[in-house]
Amino acid sequence: EPASAPTPGSAAAIRVDPECVFCRIIAGEIPSERVHEDETVIAFKDLSPKAPVHVLVVPRTHLRDVRELADEPSLLAHVASVAGDLAAELADGDFRLVFNTGAQAGQTVFHVHAHVLAGGELAEGEM
Ligand code: IMP
Repeated sequence: EPASAPTPGSAAAIRVDPECVFCRIIAGEIPSERVHEDETVIAFKDLSPKAPVHVLVVPRTHLRDVRELADEPSLLAHVASVAGDLAAELADGDFRLVFNTGAQAGQTVFHVHAHVLAGGELAEGEM
């Protein structure tokens, strides 16, 4: 019996795309303000925040979008769980969780990431 359960999603091999900006952040090649890291996900502050707290929760493995992430349910659940923990740690616990999916929906980085927006009353329709 192991002392602690493995982090959700840790069984899968980590895919890397050397051209991907988030893979490069995960590798430490591009600096970021990290607010969380564990075996399967990292979280860092968004470069152009749209709310008082705006962090991105990013699986270490290179998946394109939330539809690919949904094929790994335990990893998707872990992303949501970390998002909630960070909203409680960095703000009052209330948060909006956004996955832009596809260019027309505003996705610009094709490495799946959850936007965690928190820290005040968020307007309807605000990202
Ligand atoms: P998307 O538009 O949903 O794909 O979100 C990409 C987000 O990544 C945007 O909110 C950007 O501000 C953010 N972003 C892009 N490059 C960096 C970076 O190097 N560090 C932190 N955030 C970044």
